[in-house]
Amino acid sequence: MKQIYILLVISLGVSTFSCSGSVERNVETEELVTDSSHVVTEALVIDEHTLSNYKDVVVSHCHLSLDVDFENEVLKGSVLHTLKNVSGAEVVIFDTKNLNIKSVLVDGTTAPFELGNYDELLGTPLQITINKDVNTVEIFYETTEGAEALDWVNPKLTAGKENPYVFTQGQSIFTRTWVPIMDTPGLRITYSADITVPPNLLAVMSADNPTEKNDQGKYHFEMSQPVPCYLMALAVGNLEFVPVDERTGVYTEPEMIDACAFEFADMGEMVKKAEGLYGPYLWGRYDIIVLPPSFPFGGMENPRLTFATPTIIAGDRSLVSLVAHELAHSWSGNLVTNSTWNDFWLNEGFTVYFERRIMEDMYGKDYADMLAILGYQDLIRSIDEESEADQALKLKLNRRHPDVGMTDIAYEKGCFFLKMIEEASGRELFDSFLKNYFLEHKFQTINTEEFVNYLNAKLLVPNKIAVNVEEWIYESGVPSNCPVIESKNFTSVEEQLAAFGTENNLDEINPLDWSTHEWLHFIRNMPPEFSNKQLEIIDSRFQLTQSGNCEIACAWFEKSIRCNYEAVDQNLEKFLVRVGRRKFLTPLYRALKESNRLDRAFEIYEKARPNYHHVSSHTIDELLGYSKS
Ligand SMILES: [Zn+2]
Repeated sequence: MKQIYILLVISLGVSTFSCSGSVERNVETEELVTDSSHVVTEALVIDEHTLSNYKDVVVSHCHLSLDVDFENEVLKGSVLHTLKNVSGAEVVIFDTKNLNIKSVLVDGTTAPFELGNYDELLGTPLQITINKDVNTVEIFYETTEGAEALDWVNPKLTAGKENPYVFTQGQSIFTRTWVPIMDTPGLRITYSADITVPPNLLAVMSADNPTEKNDQGKYHFEMSQPVPCYLMALAVGNLEFVPVDERTGVYTEPEMIDACAFEFADMGEMVKKAEGLYGPYLWGRYDIIVLPPSFPFGGMENPRLTFATPTIIAGDRSLVSLVAHELAHSWSGNLVTNSTWNDFWLNEGFTVYFERRIMEDMYGKDYADMLAILGYQDLIRSIDEESEADQALKLKLNRRHPDVGMTDIAYEKGCFFLKMIEEASGRELFDSFLKNYFLEHKFQTINTEEFVNYLNAKLLVPNKIAVNVEEWIYESGVPSNCPVIESKNFTSVEEQLAAFGTENNLDEINPLDWSTHEWLHFIRNMPPEFSNKQLEIIDSRFQLTQSGNCEIACAWFEKSIRCNYEAVDQNLEKFLVRVGRRKFLTPLYRALKESNRLDRAFEIYEKARPNYHHVSSHTIDELLGYSKS
């Protein structure tokens, strides 16, 4: 393909400093126009979601010294940045948001600092004067109530109901709310930490972890492999550890440890399967911590220690694809990282593809096909909900929060794009390409255009494979060559649902050997015109309103809201008050809103909101048009 270059200079003109004159930061991007008229950003791009000058002054290591003060719900202490002034800059600029900055040392000597204007999206830039030979900058600070990364969990909402608990969520741009840092995925750092906690609690991080409490409540951590700072993570609570095998294990509260050990018994095997696909696991241990239900995501791929929701503890290991997903991130995302949040699909599309390959190796093709079809259903739903511009894999966030892009476009369209290339090139060739991709880009960041160049050079051109890469990446909708997945398990579910028909033939439904996936397909495929009576007949036989499986419960509640089946109402409220996982909250509140039950949505939300992490409450505030006042 013929490509021509033009140079565009985009001046975002971020006027960031109020004191000592204003500092204009011009973001320059060299852009590339392809012959199909797509403007694509080249490797010189600067992440629009950081105010730091991370390309002028390069931080290589951070050391945290923090006390965890549960009484006042603050972290206090310092972060010591080891850095190099590669451009001869006069200042170093860090991202902060809602932090209380106390003092600064430059190479051990007290130094002045300036805080710029507060920006609702990006926070407050912290500017410190440096010379060209600077080695370290240490910042003393405290977090505040506005620390969006931190969830100080009410003890009543923990499994043990007695001890306090706190955890962080850095992705996407929340690390700056608990550490003054260059908060961009475009920079990789190593880190270490000394964390002090009450002696009855255990601290763990995305690093080398202790497995037992000590009397002093002092813990030291090392993460010696460079990671983007959204992967710095801390959790403190009444935690215990149980090994699964020599390389994997589970942290959680004692009340849940047995259930979790049972649920994750296959973890060691999964790591081996993943290595068999795309090369060695390079992070040492792979452990998982099961958090309280307010955790806003299914899982977060914090290296060496996946953070996970307790909603995947189904009692039958049926939701462990989430573990495969977070484990897969040890390659896609953690080893090879999107260089800006506009390239988020590189993290997630690869990970969903990899996750399904692990599941296929573990449990067979039929099982993986069911997951893929459910994923396709999620994709179609996302296409319905997102604007055309946001249906492209490569995002143009343009000063919107990166969370806006965390949709099934990145996850499922990204995965189906890779599946399409797998089908076009053959699995063997594609696997070898992916293995090399991870190997050659390990511990690096990459953007979409660099990936496309690599894909063309290493796979498509040498093998004379012609596919519509640009349509998939830069255009809306689902291209016509999207792979079609079939599942005989799901066909059987559809036949049973049809046989139930309008005569309500319950005996036609035989779910004895159904997994969670068949149940989801069953509920999602109920016709919209199903009557209350029909839902009641199904519910009284299969007790779906009482389901302890959060995936099934959520799908059932949504269907019930949309069909005005009000028998679920009390259980729906209990669910929404207890569970803070955004994936479940969004469709349920949306269904209430779209069914003209906004009053009921607000009534539940008033009770539930204090239990949610900022990530979830921020989304639901916007969805419902809620404001605290
Ligand atoms: Zn993911």
